[in-house]
Parts: sequence; C-alpha cells; structure tokens
Amino acid sequence: MKHDVVNPATEEVVATVELTTAEQADEAISRAAAAYPSWRAVAPGDRARLLHRFANVVESHLEELALLEVANSGHTISNARWEAGNVRDVLRFYAGAPERLHGKQIPVAGGVDLTFKEPLGVVAVIVPWNFPMPIAGWGFAPALAAGNTVVLKPAELTPLTALRLAELALEAGLPEGVFTVVAGKGSVVGERFVAHEQVRKICFTGSTEVGTRIMKGAADQVKRITLELGGKSANVIFADADVERAAAQAPYGVFDNAGQDCCARSRILVQEGILDSFLESFQDAVAAVRVEDPALESAEMGPLISAEQRDRVASYVDGDRVAFRGNCPTGKGFWYPPTVLLAETGQEPSWREEIFGPVVSVLPFTDEADAIAKANDTEFGLSGSIWTRDVGRALRVARGIESGNLSVNSHSSVRYWTPFGGFKRSGLGRELGPDALDAFTEVKNVFIATEE
Ligand code: NAD
Repeated sequence: MKHDVVNPATEEVVATVELTTAEQADEAISRAAAAYPSWRAVAPGDRARLLHRFANVVESHLEELALLEVANSGHTISNARWEAGNVRDVLRFYAGAPERLHGKQIPVAGGVDLTFKEPLGVVAVIVPWNFPMPIAGWGFAPALAAGNTVVLKPAELTPLTALRLAELALEAGLPEGVFTVVAGKGSVVGERFVAHEQVRKICFTGSTEVGTRIMKGAADQVKRITLELGGKSANVIFADADVERAAAQAPYGVFDNAGQDCCARSRILVQEGILDSFLESFQDAVAAVRVEDPALESAEMGPLISAEQRDRVASYVDGDRVAFRGNCPTGKGFWYPPTVLLAETGQEPSWREEIFGPVVSVLPFTDEADAIAKANDTEFGLSGSIWTRDVGRALRVARGIESGNLSVNSHSSVRYWTPFGGFKRSGLGRELGPDALDAFTEVKNVFIATEE
C-alpha cells in the first residue's frame, strides 16, 4: 500500500512511501535477529569507530536532512538544522559507550563475582511525528552502541528523514540488518513489534494513550519498555523574576515547533501582582513571533503537521477565553496562529489536556505553595520552567514540582548528555545521558568458585 507524504506548509505531495505490511515487518525483525550475534561480537573499539563513521556521514548530509525535514514536517529550517545536528551529536556521544560499558567485580567468599552489561537483542524504536530525527537518534544510537540491533518505525506522516538515515547507516558501513527502518502504520507495524517474540525491547515515544496500550501489550512477554509520553508543563513566573525577560522568552517555551512539543510549557502560572505587566509584555512578544514559510531563514514558527491536527487544536480554543493572538499566513498550509487563553478555574480542557499546538493558557497564583500545587495538578510530569531571582526559591520549587526536567530562568529541556524523561503519565525510564545505556542492557552476574 502506498502513502502520500505531504508538505504541511504547501499541502503538496513531496513523496510516496510504501507502507510495510505485518509480514514485511516480521521479515525486518528476522533480519535484525540474524544480524544480532555478529553485531554484539564486534570488538568495542570497532563498534565505536562504526558509530563515529555514521556520525560523520550524517554530518556530511546535515543540510540535506534539514531540508528534507522542512519539506516533510514543516519545521523551521533553523530548528531542522539543530535536529539533524542532534542526531550527529547523539551518535558521537554514544560512540564513546562500547569501550566504557564496564561491569563490576563484587567481593564474595569462596570466589570471584563479576557483572556484565549484556545487550538485549532486537530493540524496536517507535517514533512520533513531532521530532522525527532527534527522537529516532535517542533510541537507535544508545541501542546500537550497547550491541543491540534495531528496527525503527517512524510515524506515518513523517517517514522521510528516518528512511534516509537508514541509507546513511549503510553508507557508513553498518552491516545489513543492524539498523532497519520500516515505514508503516502503528496499528500494523507498531503492534507487530510489540507482539513479536524476537523483539526484546520497545523504546516508544508518542501519546500517553498509545504508550499505555504498548505497556499492556508488552506485559505478556515481560518485554522491556521505555516510554516517553505526553506533557502539560508549567512555566511558573514569580514576582521577583526579570518579568520582561520571562515574557520575552515565554513564546519560545511553548510555540517552538508550533507547540507540537512534548515539553511545551503550555500552562503559564503568573504570580498575582505582576499579571498585568506580564500579559502586556507577553502580548508584544507573541505579536512578534514570525510565523511563515518554514524554509525562510527568518521563520520562527511553521505550520501544524496536518489538517486533522489543526482542527483538534482549534477545538480547544472554541468557547475558551482568548486574551490575544499572533499572526499566521492564510491560504494553503495547515497554519494556526499563536494563541493565548486566560484560564479561570484550572478545570478547562485547554488547561488540563495536551493540545499539541500553539495554544497557551495563563492562570495566576498566590505564593510558592500555590504555585507548586497548581503546577502539580496534572496527570503529566515531563518538563517545566521556573522564573525567579531567588536561588533558594528556585530550588525549593524545582524540588516540589513532580516533573522529570525543569529549567530555571530558561526553557531548555534537552541536552544529549543529561537524562530526559517523565514523571507520572509522561513516561517510564530515561533517555539520553550515560544512564540511558542501562535501558538497553541487561545486567548479568557470574560467580566463579576459586576454592577447590
Ligand atoms: P502517537 O502515540 O499517535 O504515535 C506515536 C507512534 O506510535 C507512531 O509511530 C505511531 O504510528 C505508533 N503507533 C500508533 N499506534 C500504535 C500501536 N497500537 N502500537 C504500536 N505503535 C503505535 O503519537 P503522535 O501523535 O505521533 O505524537 C504525539 C505525541 O507524542 C504527543 O502526546 C507527545 O507529547 C508525545 N511525545 C512525547 C515525547 C517525550 O519525549 N515524552 C516526545 C515527543 C512526543
């Protein structure tokens, strides 16, 4: 079956991709299983060199990959360049791992006790449409470094960069079957990955709904899982913050990638007393966001991924109080303007549910305890920001918020060398950083008796 891949900024078909059937998915898994024994036996230094070569090939195709993502996903060219660069950086970071996967020697009576970090076998990586390149890399790079083979399924809407990365892996010299990308439907290929006995681990990023389903499916085989799911993160602004700066930065915390970001700070909590001055500066900042053809160097926000996504986003705004909006192009393309809502009770669906679009709500709070309580009044816990000049308060609030990734006076969430993941229904396990390797290895303990 064929599937048209559409440019969300123009609605033109940019490519037609063959969708993998369940049988073809099984074949890909079998090839990955067949490639596994020799891949895990590659000497650590050689595996490291192959991953460095893969990173170098990605680097020599950065602009091509970035332009492909602009056409497929509507990401701004500056973001897409960062995303391609992130794949290279993550590959380089984990290329350091094969030679550092140390075990332990544990003191015991009557012998020697050793631990080994063993690969799992075939790892399936399932990727959403919002960040097709980085999220793929966060899965396949540590998995390959630890000696696993990988089958990867991109989202139906955004398969092009992942398919290209698989070609670049072969060009870099990775053996056939070590890293395979299969474009297909979640209900066909994704479910096959979950059900197939030879897949030992699912590394899933996507909605909480599908993640829950995968967790249930994986239980039958006690299959290992890592889940990176939805978010509804808070941006907490205290009266003692640099309010002008907090307001000027707030659009970047939520409208980046048109709000289709699991880390989007889509709930802004502002301390009473500075609400009016914050809203005034924020309105200017929102009006200044350049929503335009994502291929332009000046673009700061592009379109949404699809017409369905635009309708879904719009459905949250109907009937809710719009404080102000930014601009966006009209005509072809799935455009939606940056939109700011005033929440009243904190019970509105737009305050509680992940919208995954350029819509943010603002709600006042009284003091630290109220800020923490309101920030935590959500089923999610992925990200968040705290703006204050008081370092003690920053740390108290950061410790109080139930979330995996917090930033103070900043909206940064992702650094490939630090851990990333969610509390509560935002996920299970951590990606990135050295600890992510634990999610792609199994600890084996070996005792050797030395007494006769
Ligand atoms: P989605 O859950 O609909 O799909 C994600 C992937 O799962 C796709 O490749 C899809 O084809 C596949 N899939 C769908 N049904 C499946 C099934 N039954 N079995 C196996 N695989 C299946 O999510 P989406 O709409 O592509 O992405 C948006 C969601 O991803 C948002 O909720 C967002 O917050 C989340 N997200 C989370 C993170 C994070 O790191 N926490 C990062 C990015 C996106």
